[in-house]
Amino acid sequence: TTQPLNVKLLLIGNSSVGKSSLLLRFSDEQWVPEDEASATIGVDFRVHKMDVDGKKVKLSIWDTAGQERFRTITSSYYRGAHGVILVYDVANRESFDALPKWYSELETYVSPKVVKMVVGNKVDKEYSRQVTYSEGQHFATRMNSLFFEASAKTAVGVEDAFKQLVRQVVAEPELLTGD
Ligand code: GDP
Repeated sequence: TTQPLNVKLLLIGNSSVGKSSLLLRFSDEQWVPEDEASATIGVDFRVHKMDVDGKKVKLSIWDTAGQERFRTITSSYYRGAHGVILVYDVANRESFDALPKWYSELETYVSPKVVKMVVGNKVDKEYSRQVTYSEGQHFATRMNSLFFEASAKTAVGVEDAFKQLVRQVVAEPELLTGD
C-alpha cells in the first residue's frame, strides 16, 4: 500500500460567513442549526480521507474556530498549508469587501504556489443576496484563485468545492514535498 498524501487546507474569512459550517458539512455531512452553530464549537481541525484521481489523500482542514474575532491568527495557523479557502457570505457585502485584506495577510504567510479558492457561502439566501456570482468570479480570477458558490445549509457546492481544491493541490506535486 502507498502512503496517503497529506494535504493541509485552511479556511479564512470574516467571522460568521460559515467557515465552521462548511467544514462540518464537508466532514460530517451534517448541518448544525443556527443557534447551536454560533457557539462555535472549538473545532481546530478535522481529518478527512478521500480518493482523488486514484490517489489516497489524508486531508487536514483547519478552521479558525473564532480566532479571527480576536485577530490572533498567527503564522502557525498558516504554516505548511497547501490550499486556502477564502470564504465570504453572498448575503453580506462587508464580508466580500474584506477579502483583499484576508488575501494580503495570506500572501505574507504562504508561498505563492499555494492553491487558493474563493467560496461565496450561503447561496440559499438568494432573497437577500448582496454579491453577484460574477462579482465573486471576477475577484477570484484577479486573485488567481478558483471560485465556487456554496451553501453549508443545503450542501450545494460544498463537496465540489473541496474536491476541486484538493484535485488542484494534488496536481502540483512540488507543493506536497518537504512535509
Ligand atoms: P464562522 O464564524 O465563519 O465559522 O461561521 P459559522 O459556521 O459559525 O456560521 C455563522 C452563522 O451562519 C451560523 O448561524 C450558521 O448557522 C450560519 N450559516 C453558515 N452557513 C450557512 C449557509 O450556507 N446558509 C445559511 N442560511 N446560514 C449559514
